[in-house]
Amino acid sequence: MKKICKNCKKDFEVRKEDLIFYDQIKVPPPLMCPDCRMQRRISFRNERTLYRRPCDKCGKNGISLYASGTLFPVYCHTCWWGDSWNPTSYGMKYDPARPFMGQFAELKNKVPRVRLLSINSINSEYENNSSENKNCYLIFAAENNEDCLYGRLVQHCKNSMDCAFLYDSELCYECVDTRKSFKCLYGERLQECVDTFFSFDMRNCQNCIFCVNGRNLRYQIYNRSCTKEEFKKKKAEIFKDYASIEKAKEEFNRLRSGALVKYAFATKCVNATGDYMYNCHDGARIFDVSNAKNCSYVADAEDPIDCQDVNNHYFKGERCYNVMGALQDTNCIGIIFSFYCNNVYYSDSCRNCSDCFGCVALNNKKYCILNKEYPKEEYEKIKNEITEEMKRIGIYGEYFPAELSPYPYNDTLAQEYFPMTEKEAKEKGFNWQTETSGTYGKETIKEENMPETAEEVNEEILKEILVCKDCKKNFRITKSELDFYKRMNIPPPRKDFECRHQDRMKKRNPRKLWHRACMCKKTNHPHHLDIECPSGCPNKFETSYRDDRPEMVYCEQCYQQEIS
Ligand SMILES: [Zn+2]
Ligand SMILES: [Zn+2]
Ligand SMILES: [Zn+2]
Ligand SMILES: [Zn+2]
Ligand SMILES: [Zn+2]
Repeated sequence: MKKICKNCKKDFEVRKEDLIFYDQIKVPPPLMCPDCRMQRRISFRNERTLYRRPCDKCGKNGISLYASGTLFPVYCHTCWWGDSWNPTSYGMKYDPARPFMGQFAELKNKVPRVRLLSINSINSEYENNSSENKNCYLIFAAENNEDCLYGRLVQHCKNSMDCAFLYDSELCYECVDTRKSFKCLYGERLQECVDTFFSFDMRNCQNCIFCVNGRNLRYQIYNRSCTKEEFKKKKAEIFKDYASIEKAKEEFNRLRSGALVKYAFATKCVNATGDYMYNCHDGARIFDVSNAKNCSYVADAEDPIDCQDVNNHYFKGERCYNVMGALQDTNCIGIIFSFYCNNVYYSDSCRNCSDCFGCVALNNKKYCILNKEYPKEEYEKIKNEITEEMKRIGIYGEYFPAELSPYPYNDTLAQEYFPMTEKEAKEKGFNWQTETSGTYGKETIKEENMPETAEEVNEEILKEILVCKDCKKNFRITKSELDFYKRMNIPPPRKDFECRHQDRMKKRNPRKLWHRACMCKKTNHPHHLDIECPSGCPNKFETSYRDDRPEMVYCEQCYQQEIS
């Protein structure tokens, strides 16, 4: 079934699998296309814009996701998790004469919210959507790390800095999509690699520089064998100073664009479209997801089952729809940050709840509507009334309206995946932040006076205010950061952490798919030897490589044939 997106006015396809799902959870088909739906959900996620503000209960200053001046109070962890306040005291009686969404907005603007989503971390005040970290600084969506700085999606890592999508690794710097690696710098798609630099798509490799598509390599430069001495010499040459590292980055970009790539960064996936997938079965448009079964339009998730339109969904969520931020939820629709909930609808920040509708920040509650408790029968009756009202005006099943996000659009994950200008965002009903945090023009050291080598740097740099060469924002270097540069023998960066993060995110493919054909023209691949295909491999696929990308994009079979 074809529909026209209410938001971007483009056509989109509602698949027959989608219709079965909508039927099962009793919602009408969506009004917006998958991209606009994803954009809406992640506009409710501020992952990395932090502000300093006091707790509205105890007055203690701290770091928060919310700038001062929110309509709702923001509490520090101690106050929020403590029992000195009761979210049901904000309960409102549903008024059938007024639209439900307006009443929910009213409640949302009264109930306190926690200042940061950070759980059980030690000495890691500047983190968000994170847990179990120790001595970490400015890391986001990160768990179980020690001594890690400036990262997004960093899990089970130690002593690593400026990485994104880094797992089970140590002493890595500027690595993206890397697993189980040690002492790797400037790498992408490394797995089980050691001492590997400026390399792409490598598995079980050691001591490699400027290599691509490597498997089980030892001592190689440009995918050719070298002696230990040659390796040492090349490494010293590259890491000699700032300028030669910059040159090596350019050289790496050139090499990378000539690499062979598989249509999707996918392992053990069956009947699934998307990218960055592991062990996903039966679904469409799955990005950065592992172990999904029968899920579609999903991003940043682990182990979801029978879910659609969910983001940041972890611990085996089941049958959820339109959810952003969940741990082990089942049968939930229209949810923001909800943990261990069942049958919860259109709610925000609830934990351990079941059968709730339109609630905010409840813990361990049942049969609540707008934070007010009811006997079971009455709950069901009012819930049906609200559902009918929402269906009548055509919003049941849809996510929250844009203006209900407590964050400015440019502070959210949506700006990262669906960038918009202030004008565009406002036209679409999103909030916008015009004041920037941070300062400009206060630098005490100009770019041309920055140290060229790691040896030149000493603790004096900790006193300096630096300036980002891209956005001109001022930034500083921390002590643990300096120690890392010294240890790894690299000069300090000339961009602030946000611009460095943006550069890394640009290395990853977009969350979009194009229909393309395998580019393989080899004449020795059994699966297209004797079929009638003089122009090469006949396989077609959905890929996140647009057709103007420089890489050679192969189907699974051809890629395996060439690289294994
Ligand atoms: Zn759209
Ligand atoms: Zn407090
Ligand atoms: Zn910058
Ligand atoms: Zn092929
Ligand atoms: Zn082939």
